[in-house]
Amino acid sequence: MYGRITRAFKVLISVAAVAGILTGCISSSSTLTDAPEKLEKSISNGKSLIPDITRDTLTLPDKELASVDESLKTPAKSTVSNKTEEKEDVIGGSLIDPAKYVPDPSARIKIVLDPGHGGVHSGAVCDGLREQDLNLKVAILCRNYLITHYSDVAVFLTRSTDRELNETLKIDLEERANVAEFANADALISLHFNASENHDANGAIVYVSKRDNVNEESGMLGDAILKRLEDLGIENHSISIRDSNDLFDTSGNPYDYYAINRHCAAKDIPGIIVEHAYIDSPIDRGFIDSEEGLAAIAEADALGIAAHFELTLY
Ligand SMILES: [Zn+2]
Repeated sequence: MYGRITRAFKVLISVAAVAGILTGCISSSSTLTDAPEKLEKSISNGKSLIPDITRDTLTLPDKELASVDESLKTPAKSTVSNKTEEKEDVIGGSLIDPAKYVPDPSARIKIVLDPGHGGVHSGAVCDGLREQDLNLKVAILCRNYLITHYSDVAVFLTRSTDRELNETLKIDLEERANVAEFANADALISLHFNASENHDANGAIVYVSKRDNVNEESGMLGDAILKRLEDLGIENHSISIRDSNDLFDTSGNPYDYYAINRHCAAKDIPGIIVEHAYIDSPIDRGFIDSEEGLAAIAEADALGIAAHFELTLY
């Protein structure tokens, strides 16, 4: 199946290259830069986040807790193709109906899928494709694949529609990690698509926390996903960590640059960021401008997660 898909992508890629369709990409750094970088700017203007990093209790106000609770239980709908959900329902190995799915908190493995950005927090945009929509599609397809093929996993989404978790970006990112804590998750996987300033980069990369409590497992999980993406024909740029420029612990060691990595590590949860491909790359574009391409990426994510956690097939 991958071989057939890969050949189809090569045709798509050639067409895209010849037609020169990659001309409408927004290249301002504020749009192309991933959300956590914006967070860093807000952090550099204040010191309030440092105490939060070490906190060990969930301190969401009641209202926000309720909203998180609701998001965990909301079945996936609307902005993502219902056609795909029906198809998954038919080919799945269980009788689970993804549209009515409610994750079971007692499942052996609990995964939080985090579709990056959403609502007021825009990701990359290129030729009418919005990263926040692609992230959501892949997240729902990945969840549906997991819950219809494996019996011992519960999958929670941080959002199931095009919405933010909080209008303030700093809080929005922290709340995504709070969902993982609330769900007692074995891992949070934040799903993204990349973009480059000069539209000349391609391939997949996974960012993990450098912290000892989660680094090794995060790397193994990320590698399992990257291997499946590589099987599709997406270049593997492997696991990476990124240090904060201006956030240091009491020993002078820099914190993780990305908020998802940082907040999840503080909660003892492996939180990884999967940048699947570049939304503005002629090489990668064939994977992301078709329903088949997005489904293949979602399946690759699911197979990587299943392999790492040794999930049980129905
Ligand atoms: Zn992103």
